[in-house]
Amino acid sequence: MTEHRVSRRGFMGGLATAAGALAIAPTANLWAENIRLTPRHRELVSLMALDEYDSLAKMSFNENPWGPPESVLKAMAGAMKYANRYGYPDANIVEEIAKHHGVKPENVMIAAGSGEILDVVGSTFASDGKQVIGVEPTYASVYQHVTSVRGSAITLPLLPDYRQDIPSMIRATKKHYRNVGFVYMCNPNNPTGRTVSKSEIKQLLDGIPEDTVVLIDEAYHHFVEDPDYATSVPYVLEGRPVIIARTFSKIAGLAGMRLGYAIAPKEIIQQMQPYSTGTINAIVKHGGVASLKDTDSQATVKRMTLELRKKMTGELTGMGYAVIPSETNFFMVNLKRPMRPVIDEFRKQGVLVGRPFPPMNEHLRVSVGTAEETDRFLKAFKDIMGKPVTQAGKGPGI
Ligand code: PLP
Repeated sequence: MTEHRVSRRGFMGGLATAAGALAIAPTANLWAENIRLTPRHRELVSLMALDEYDSLAKMSFNENPWGPPESVLKAMAGAMKYANRYGYPDANIVEEIAKHHGVKPENVMIAAGSGEILDVVGSTFASDGKQVIGVEPTYASVYQHVTSVRGSAITLPLLPDYRQDIPSMIRATKKHYRNVGFVYMCNPNNPTGRTVSKSEIKQLLDGIPEDTVVLIDEAYHHFVEDPDYATSVPYVLEGRPVIIARTFSKIAGLAGMRLGYAIAPKEIIQQMQPYSTGTINAIVKHGGVASLKDTDSQATVKRMTLELRKKMTGELTGMGYAVIPSETNFFMVNLKRPMRPVIDEFRKQGVLVGRPFPPMNEHLRVSVGTAEETDRFLKAFKDIMGKPVTQAGKGPGI
């Protein structure tokens, strides 16, 4: 088993660079804020200042390129009248989420995006010397937050077929048991798009000490077709120490509005409560409830996404580039060359593609865009990959 330890010191190096670029002193109290200002976010902020943003094909953040449906826009417009209020009818967002999953409101915590849930879990269970165990690459924001609160991460490599290595996770959890704060599993995994099957989840939960907290991030749940995959919400109903993170940023198209939630046993929700900000705006609470009810629109987004993904991956494999089979609204293509200069070339052509996910340094992550964005991506891909790219890119990561 090859383990890689990520400590606060490791991330401080990256922070020093970021702080230098922003001319911000890397003081302890700025640490938490700076960690969120990743190069990709800085890139977008500067793009907006240049008024270029709208013209770009945005295939870098796994967003829903069509945005929320009419039903959700209408609900949000209707809630604008609460913009000046602290207390207002909140569309029963917590109760509606609970009903949606067949759990009780006491099993639900809402947050400003599931990113906040991941942070809250990190602060609750893996601060001050505790460890989070998970694979690499994955949605590393979890590891970054844990290290920012003086915990650390033990990361394990993926299997050769890019799936998560469950026996290795079990071994690492047992080996470090006394110090393990929680296990993190992104299912399906970002950036590979690969799922962990129902039986593997059971193998993990049955194989680790029964009081180990497991955070299962189901941000891309709605795009999965694989019949061997299933949500892990039933484990919460069984009373296991499992936390499910979900978001309205992907299928629901509400990334900019910030809404996510956790489903977990009541005791875990209570433990996490002090670390949550609870600052969710009135508009998105109403939008979120409308979204849960509009299953037809979600089905349409799924269908369009999968059709476009099939078109993109079909063309890429037709050109001789291997694509990792994905169950999400993004996929990884093996460029067979370092991907950083390629990312920069795409940027020059007005196409934003995914950031690097070391150690997969030759795999580019591409989010499914609209049909028009897809065409722009494929045209740029043919152009860029048709000629040698030798220069190391200079642009910021996206
Ligand atoms: N989890 C995963 C796997 C993600 O890919 C993302 C965002 O891309 C998030 C969580 C955070 O999403 P949000 O904070 O918008 O809910």
